[in-house]
Amino acid sequence: MLDAQAYGAVSPTAPLTTMTVKRRDLKPHDVLVEIRYTGICHSDIHYTRSEWGPASYPAVPGHEITGVVAEIGSAVTRHAVGDRVAVGCLVDSCRECAYCRAGEENHCVKDGGTLTFGSVDADGEVTQGGYSTHIVVTEDFVLRLPDGLDLAASAPLLCSGVTAYSVLRRQDVGQNSRIGVVGLGGLGHVTVKLAHAMGAEVTVLSHSPAKREDALALGADHYHATSDPAVFEQLAGSFPLLIITASAPLDLDAYLGLVATHGTLVNLGAPAQPLQMYAFSLLKRDVSIGASLIGGLRQTQEMLDFCAERGIASEVEIVAAERINEAYERMLASDVRYRFVIDATTMVRP
Ligand code: NAP
Ligand code: ZN
Ligand code: ZN
Repeated sequence: MLDAQAYGAVSPTAPLTTMTVKRRDLKPHDVLVEIRYTGICHSDIHYTRSEWGPASYPAVPGHEITGVVAEIGSAVTRHAVGDRVAVGCLVDSCRECAYCRAGEENHCVKDGGTLTFGSVDADGEVTQGGYSTHIVVTEDFVLRLPDGLDLAASAPLLCSGVTAYSVLRRQDVGQNSRIGVVGLGGLGHVTVKLAHAMGAEVTVLSHSPAKREDALALGADHYHATSDPAVFEQLAGSFPLLIITASAPLDLDAYLGLVATHGTLVNLGAPAQPLQMYAFSLLKRDVSIGASLIGGLRQTQEMLDFCAERGIASEVEIVAAERINEAYERMLASDVRYRFVIDATTMVRP
């Protein structure tokens, strides 16, 4: 067992604090990753604050991990010591169900696979995530980080990148697509970059005018601040595809009004509150509503390769571990440009 340094929550209300987590001894197919950077996803906040139901404390979040292989088990063939690697939202799955066989481990019939934090693994232990110095993961769930990608700027791709990539591919986004992206945070800004790289005409809908210049620099073609109610009339029925990436509950009826006839609103945000809408918000233009949850391992690797080829990564602000709580507060105030990434070398012993 390895005692890894970590940062985690001991209750839904306490600030995150320094702690140690036990990483298991390597089994034949295990890889020990020395973590270099971990992105702070808003899901980390939802989870550690028990917004999705009671978390298991102590709770170490983090599922946007990049690092270097420090040690391998006796049967590992996919990775070697010194390789640059990445770990995303999943660390295992049943590998037998139809979804696992199809490369959609994120929809594994056995509890949706083993998540990087807050799941119970094959040994009966609650998984602890990437706000840590080391993690042990079975080799098939460790991804290859292509040469062109920076360790810090690519960490957020492991959740927000694949979440965006997966929905854009499923919706066949390309040269003739016209899409709206609601919310310009960690997930939103990567959605804009990827959709732009795929050739789409992208409109950002942000709740204030503050991010206009940034949005255009990220590849958006248009920008609207939804604080101006006239926007909802001006853009009524405009978007064949509207993707919501906001972390807070929105007035869905208002946003459904922006979707084109026969179009689709895809919700990616995961606030704790129930989604509510009137039937006529859907009936009026035959609008569909859907969702998308992260992505499978094969697609995550495909997304990393696509990003390396196109020079895409996240816009990051690197923070020391002691600034994680401040980063949470800034994210809750929408003051993130556009992903905080923790430098794992700043984790200190409790
Ligand atoms: P984030 O970096 O904190 O960004 C969230 C953005 O939402 C903010 O920057 C803000 O954008 C917008 N927002 C926040 N409060 C708002 C409000 N009251 N009204 C309107 N807009 C508001 O969060 P994130 O990491 O991108 O995650 C966003 C959400 O997606 C979270 O709920 C997260 O759990 C979820 N998520 C889901 C998946 C999935 O698989 N579906 C994957 C990753 C994350 P503006 O300032 O531009 O309005
Ligand atoms: Zn995430
Ligand atoms: Zn499965």
